[in-house]
Amino acid sequence: MKIALVTGANKGIGLATARRLGREGDHHVVVAARNADAGAEAAGKLAAEGLHATSLTMDVTDPASVAAAAAQVAERFGRLDVLVNNAGILPEATNTSPKEVLDLRMFEQTYATNVLGPVAVVEAFLPLLRKSPAGRIVNVSSAVGSLAHQTDPDSPWYGMVVPAYQSSKAALNAITIVLAKALADTPIKVTSVCPGWVQTDLAPGNREQAPVTPDEAADVVHRAATLDAADPSGTFIDAAGPVRW
Ligand code: NDP
Repeated sequence: MKIALVTGANKGIGLATARRLGREGDHHVVVAARNADAGAEAAGKLAAEGLHATSLTMDVTDPASVAAAAAQVAERFGRLDVLVNNAGILPEATNTSPKEVLDLRMFEQTYATNVLGPVAVVEAFLPLLRKSPAGRIVNVSSAVGSLAHQTDPDSPWYGMVVPAYQSSKAALNAITIVLAKALADTPIKVTSVCPGWVQTDLAPGNREQAPVTPDEAADVVHRAATLDAADPSGTFIDAAGPVRW
C-alpha cells in the first residue's frame, strides 16, 4: 500500500483528493490538517467509507509542527510515496481595507502558507519521499498564477489583479520547476496543477458561483499524484492538459 499525505485535507479540494487517493491506487491517506479535530473528523469520515486513512496535525506555517509531523510519518510508515501540497489561502478575497495595491501584510500571510509552507513541507518530507520507489510531489497551484496567462491579452485571466495570491502561485510554479530539475536523477516527479475554479471556502462566492466540484477538481490532482515512470516531471497541468507557465 502506498502512503499519501495531503496538506489542508480536512475540507475542500484536499479532502476530495484524499478520498480519491484512498479509493484508487491502493493508498493509505494521511489527512494533514492544522486543526487536529477537523483532521480527525475528516479521516474518520474516510475510514467510515472503508478507506485507509489517518489524521496528522500540521500547520504548514509552523516549522516545528511540520518537523513533528514528518517525524510521526517516519515513525509510523518509514517512507512517503505521495505528497500533495494543497493547503492554501486567499486572504485578499476578504481584505476590506487594503493599504495599497501591494499590501505587505497580504503578501506576508499569503506567502507564509502558499509558498514557504510547501518549501517547509518538502524540506521535511523529502528524506521520506526519497525512500519511495516512485515518489510524487503535487503542488496545487492555479492558472491565475501563470505568467503566460497574466501577460496574454486574450487570456481569461489577463484582467485579474490579485497581487499576493497570483504571485504566490507563480512562485510555487517556479519551485515546481527547480525541484523537478534538482530531483531529475531520482524517481521523484514534481507537478503543478490547476484544479479549476472550485466550490470551496477559499473565497466568498466560490461555493455558489464556481463551476467545478471538489470531487471533479480532485481528478487532476490524483492524475499528477499517480504519474507513471515514463511521464515527464516538472509540468503544469489542469483538467484539459498542459497549462502555460
Ligand atoms: P479551502 O479554503 O476549502 O481549503 C483550504 C485548506 O487549506 C483548508 O483545509 C485549510 O485549513 C488549509 N490551510 C490553510 N492554511 C493552512 C496552514 N497554515 N496549515 C495547514 N493547512 C492550512 O480551499 P480549497 O480547497 O479551494 O484550496 C485548496 C488549494 O487549491 C489551495 O492551495 C488553493 O489556492 C488552490 N486552488 C483553489 C481554487 C478554487 O477555486 N477553490 C482554484 C485554484 C487553486 P482550515 O480548515 O484549518 O482553514
